[in-house]
Amino acid sequence: MNWISNYVRPKINSLFSRREVPENLWTKCPECGTMLFHRELAANLNVCSNCDHHMAITPRDRFGALFDGGIFTEVKVPDAVQDPLHFRDQKKYPDRIKAAQKASGEKDAMLVAEGDMARTPIVAAAQDFSFMAGSMGMNVGNAIIAGAQRAVELRRPLILFSASGGARMQEGMLSLMQMPRTTVAVQMLKEAGLPYIVVLTHPTTGGVTASYAMLGDVQIAEPNAQIGFAGARVIEQTIREKLPEGFQRAEYLLDHGMLDRVVHRKAMKDELSTLVRLLMALPPGIKGDLPAPTEVPEPAKA
Ligand SMILES: [Zn+2]
Repeated sequence: MNWISNYVRPKINSLFSRREVPENLWTKCPECGTMLFHRELAANLNVCSNCDHHMAITPRDRFGALFDGGIFTEVKVPDAVQDPLHFRDQKKYPDRIKAAQKASGEKDAMLVAEGDMARTPIVAAAQDFSFMAGSMGMNVGNAIIAGAQRAVELRRPLILFSASGGARMQEGMLSLMQMPRTTVAVQMLKEAGLPYIVVLTHPTTGGVTASYAMLGDVQIAEPNAQIGFAGARVIEQTIREKLPEGFQRAEYLLDHGMLDRVVHRKAMKDELSTLVRLLMALPPGIKGDLPAPTEVPEPAKA
């Protein structure tokens, strides 16, 4: 008998089991530590009801809340060449992709859809941070181009929700090539006179911030989203200075002219439809739904 088996091991076990039990039904808010019931959290669009922290949301859930009645049609994205560099770290790149596809049920880190948002026709693209940190590879590039082409074809605006750690290292130079490719796609929208609106969500960093995520006609961010190119620690070490409070956060960037707006997730649909209607010179939208007529009035008797 010793203190390792009597004290350390039970302590370690309790640490792990404590984390495993609530995972099915409860999610812990990473900001304030409140335990949130999963159904309530989903109904609240993954926003903490205690501290208003905006947690990650999958593209499918976001579109479900964005499009009227949760109805949208996916825009087909052409497949990219898989693993042209035969890249391998601890895992082979194709195995890593397969695991991410299995866990998320999605093909890659960007989902593109078309539909009506507050009765305003749009094309939308949303990045999935849970899919290999939302990294930008050839498939993400293809998705943005497909979205832009579809928007031009239908003469609709493109709204893009970004969330990414940057370029996908496993695709090397080919992932960096998505920066000019997506820039050309955005230019296509500009030449067609169609609005391109970016909603930056937590976190948007690296090559994504250096390309399509910063080229919007209107730049919106979700509250407290981290937005930057290099990480704060790297910058601190390079310039040997302490960075100010709230550096690289949405509110700080809004104060310093990098953003046009910081919008709560629940107000996003209203905000976006108002903006799109203004930019597309459409009449103001109808807020709320009118009840369907229940009885047809009798024609007046002569
Ligand atoms: Zn919280």
